[in-house]
Amino acid sequence: MRTSEIAQRFLNYFERQGHLVVPSASLISPNPTTLFTIAGMVPFIPYLLGEQTPPSRRVTSNQKCVRTLDIEEVGKTTRHGTFFQMLGNFSFGDYFKAEAIHYAWELLTTPQDQGGYGFDPEKLWVTTYTDDEEARALWRNEGFDPEHMQIFGMEDNFWTTGGPGPGGPCSEIYVDRGPEYGKDGGPAADENRFIEIWDLVFENYQVDNVKSKTDLHIVGELEHKNIDTGAGLERLAYLMQGKQNIYETDEVYPVIEAAERLSGIAYGHDEESDVRFRVVADHVRSALMIMSDGVRPSNVGRGYVLRRLLRRTVRSMRMLGVTDPVMPSLLPVSKDAMAPSYPELNHLFEDVSQAAYGEEDAFRRTLEKGTTILDVAVDKAKHGTSPVVSGQDAFTLHDTYGFPIELTLEMAAEQGVKVDEHKFRELMGEQKSRARADALKKRHNVDLSVYDDFRKTLQAPIAFLGYTDFSSRSR
Ligand code: ATP
Repeated sequence: MRTSEIAQRFLNYFERQGHLVVPSASLISPNPTTLFTIAGMVPFIPYLLGEQTPPSRRVTSNQKCVRTLDIEEVGKTTRHGTFFQMLGNFSFGDYFKAEAIHYAWELLTTPQDQGGYGFDPEKLWVTTYTDDEEARALWRNEGFDPEHMQIFGMEDNFWTTGGPGPGGPCSEIYVDRGPEYGKDGGPAADENRFIEIWDLVFENYQVDNVKSKTDLHIVGELEHKNIDTGAGLERLAYLMQGKQNIYETDEVYPVIEAAERLSGIAYGHDEESDVRFRVVADHVRSALMIMSDGVRPSNVGRGYVLRRLLRRTVRSMRMLGVTDPVMPSLLPVSKDAMAPSYPELNHLFEDVSQAAYGEEDAFRRTLEKGTTILDVAVDKAKHGTSPVVSGQDAFTLHDTYGFPIELTLEMAAEQGVKVDEHKFRELMGEQKSRARADALKKRHNVDLSVYDDFRKTLQAPIAFLGYTDFSSRSR
């Protein structure tokens, strides 16, 4: 089943259960504390908090998400993308735990020819929160094998916004990939064999005094209890398509194939190269989706995240032996794989691709200048007393060659060498102070004599009327 069909089935199922299908919001988070939309619930926060009236008390969506927190996991685990799609069903003060559990169980286990996902119930596991006996009873009522239930504490199975507000226990659903993928013993024993696919959050408490994930005060029951769930579309797809990881699913794999053609290296033979192929496929897609929502490469915020994704792609392809430009070959492939689900990509592509290709050209120039310098610094570190690239060398790379410190750290690490980051930061600090002092000096040294003639014409001090005299203001 194609990824787009898996998504459609989810939305159709919940539409049949009386949910309003809401289109994905932008990746640019409406929430000022995060750069990107990181979960399906983000656009619905005002409804969950009871601050706004929702268009329906039951909604379902397939939300585009970006999580840069997971960037280091990409390509190494089977299940982490920087971009992914989160399917969700939400109840704002409408149905609660019993229905949420029933819906999830029914959709997952109904055979595929009857509109469900057709998971073998014997392969499913759930976790529940320590005090949530009610959830365990509800799972058992659905026919869930009690041997496949595990109990976790607040750290893992209790959700809050991180501050005062709604909170509550959650129940996570996992799929067992089989003994060939790891240890027996459920999600507690092996998170590579047991893959988390869906998290059901039961928001029934008002909490405050949230000092940490486990140190908080439960004030009491919420008047309107909410349901907030998130299922990873790519994770469902890889398990249902019988693939080994999310990067091999139909919306991502074509980029790996394109990278194979460019590099002349076959995917699936060498773990180190395979990680690079997967990073490339993930990052190209994330960059495409982020740019389609209007972000362009820059040195700050979202633009910087995007820049990093594009640069990591270019570098990963270099490590696969490709020094020619890669984006013109990879980006259109990702666009074609994603356009059936996101048709707007077709008309946005001209603009998006020009920005991506321009960024790659600029980065290739930076790389060409800086790589030789870095290689010399790494060589010096390897043969010196301690295997560390000096802070001064990292600073010169930054200051003269435009090499961001993250790049120096990553490239040095690839050669088994650390960087004296502390000294680097110290030198950066000194540079900033110098720049500030220069700016001050300039301000004080400004030649004001040009105003002298004007000043001589003034007989008396001028009264400033700007705050009181509105007569000359235009409307
Ligand atoms: P994990 O512990 O496996 O990283 P999580 O606990 O961070 O997952 P949630 O925040 O509960 O995940 O997100 C809900 C669902 O979204 C998860 O069950 C998973 O299916 C999916 N998901 C979360 N992060 C990612 C990601 N980086 N890539 C792909 N899918 C993801």
